[in-house]
Amino acid sequence: MRLGVFQQDRLALVTDDELIDITDLVHVGRTGRAGPLQALIEQPDLLRQLDDAALRSAPRVEAPSWSAPLPHPPKIIGAPANYRAHVAEMGNPNTISEWGLFLKASTSVIGDGGTVQLPYTDVRTDQEGELAVIIGREARNVSLDDALDVVFGYTCLLDITTRSTEDRSTRKSYDTFTPLGTTVVTRDEVPDPDDLRLRCWVGDELRQDASTAAMIFSVRQLIAYASSVMTLLPGDVIATGTPEGVGPLQSGQDVVVEIERVGRLAVTVSDADAIPYASRPRVEVATPTA
Ligand code: MN
Repeated sequence: MRLGVFQQDRLALVTDDELIDITDLVHVGRTGRAGPLQALIEQPDLLRQLDDAALRSAPRVEAPSWSAPLPHPPKIIGAPANYRAHVAEMGNPNTISEWGLFLKASTSVIGDGGTVQLPYTDVRTDQEGELAVIIGREARNVSLDDALDVVFGYTCLLDITTRSTEDRSTRKSYDTFTPLGTTVVTRDEVPDPDDLRLRCWVGDELRQDASTAAMIFSVRQLIAYASSVMTLLPGDVIATGTPEGVGPLQSGQDVVVEIERVGRLAVTVSDADAIPYASRPRVEVATPTA
């Protein structure tokens, strides 16, 4: 099953040849900032109302304006340095085994067709195309064998990252830095999340072309490890890490991520609000002298 959110609060079931507006069939009610898909993930029994007769009578949607499927996830968990070839290009030998995980702000999410706002005129900001895992139920200390049972589905994600000196959680949490979508495919449609071709284009340039088979921590291992640290909640997003080929973004460029079986996500880049790095809010700290 493939599900999407459009016009902020409408739920679509995406079939091979049409988009069905199921908002009124599943009765998720008013959902606020988290949106209707979050409500559906939290109440999976609602999907049982989608019988064939109900679906036949539901309205069809033409060319919807997609919103982020989960505009405000409970958590966005990131996997740093989870592909060896990306570790090599970054010039630091540590991998996810040494770094562990990081968190991105939930307020950084945008949907397909959105605009990534570059924060600075003079600091590099990169694209990182990634497979995103959407958690389906509360989970703690999940075993490797049970890990995929807690997955609701998968989608495409861009982990936009500024290459400054700050902590990862700062560099990756600017508003608009987590494009997510376009739609979410449920886990039954992806038999092996560790064997998917992932490609990312910036403009006409194919920058990233790899398989999730090259991940150091597999999807199962990411879930087992993350849940050994923190309770996973329905709607949590795990950004599984990026393969080699990250590079700087320029205003006006289009960025596209496409993942086999999962889908496609496209955004644009703007520097309309970018400022010089030195003019950000800050305090000068004198370097201690010996
Ligand atoms: Mn990343």
